[in-house]
Amino acid sequence: MTEDGIRQQLVKYARLAYSRHLVRGSGGNFSARVDSGRMLITPTGVSLGDTEPTSLVEVDIASYACQSPAGYQPSKEYRYHADILRLRPDIGAVLHVHPPHATAFAVKKRDIPMLTDAAFKQRPIPRVSFAPSGSDTLQQRVADAITTNPGCAALLLEEHGLVTLGITVVAAFYLADLVEELAHIACLAAAL
Ligand SMILES: [Zn+2]
Repeated sequence: MTEDGIRQQLVKYARLAYSRHLVRGSGGNFSARVDSGRMLITPTGVSLGDTEPTSLVEVDIASYACQSPAGYQPSKEYRYHADILRLRPDIGAVLHVHPPHATAFAVKKRDIPMLTDAAFKQRPIPRVSFAPSGSDTLQQRVADAITTNPGCAALLLEEHGLVTLGITVVAAFYLADLVEELAHIACLAAAL
């Protein structure tokens, strides 16, 4: 896919993540690899629902150097996005959101129960212990979780939210949407 095509996909699915209530306010961030050394990421301080092609920030995956002709700053989580793309060459996109049901399990420091046919097909979702967003500690803990769980497709950040990995932007979005559905079903089943 061309860089312009990736840009258009990031805009479409970042807006969809917001309209699906996977995240609210100006929370969440979405990145995609454009080539072996660079990624695009949503900017800080802007709702995913307001993502524009020109607001995406280009980041060097190895050096974390950022470029934005329009003057935007990257999401403060840009370093762990770059780390995931560097550690997992099979992955093309990383989405971080705060979906309420999945995040409820993250708050309670519990794994999301895998209760349905769709859930049985998912890989385990490792939990990452809390560190403040944007911190060096969270960056390190995410990198450690990726390294110690080869092939994982999602991480639950305790007291924070969800990170999904996809070969494409679309795959990362679908997985976040699905994990939230699985967590919602688990909450409803527990309440019956
Ligand atoms: Zn967050």
